Amino acid sequence: MTVISELYVCPICGKTFSKRESLAGHIARKHGSMVIVVKANVVLKRLQEIEKQLRDLSNEIGEIKYLLEKISCSETRIVGEKEEDFGTVTFTSGDLPSFLQNNPWLSVLSKRGKS
Ligand SMILES: [Zn+2]
Repeated sequence: MTVISELYVCPICGKTFSKRESLAGHIARKHGSMVIVVKANVVLKRLQEIEKQLRDLSNEIGEIKYLLEKISCSETRIVGEKEEDFGTVTFTSGDLPSFLQNNPWLSVLSKRGKS
């Protein structure tokens, strides 16, 4: 279980608060005229965090898609082998990547390690 505990830091004077409302109140009282600047900074920071998370997520989705493709590929191969007398040309025509000759996970893992 991960508990994310955040400290809210006043970007103007550096004072810390455990609650967002406390910080907001502090800024409104002490630095009222700079609220807009502060909010812009916070929003920009959050945006950058979200962008980073989005990149990580799409990377992971890409990897999952890649794995799924390999899995469905090898399943197709197995089905093709079972129906040998019937339309197997598509699956054994020789332009299949070498990973199907052995363990498909080897190629997946070696690609993963390089990235
Ligand atoms: Zn302050």
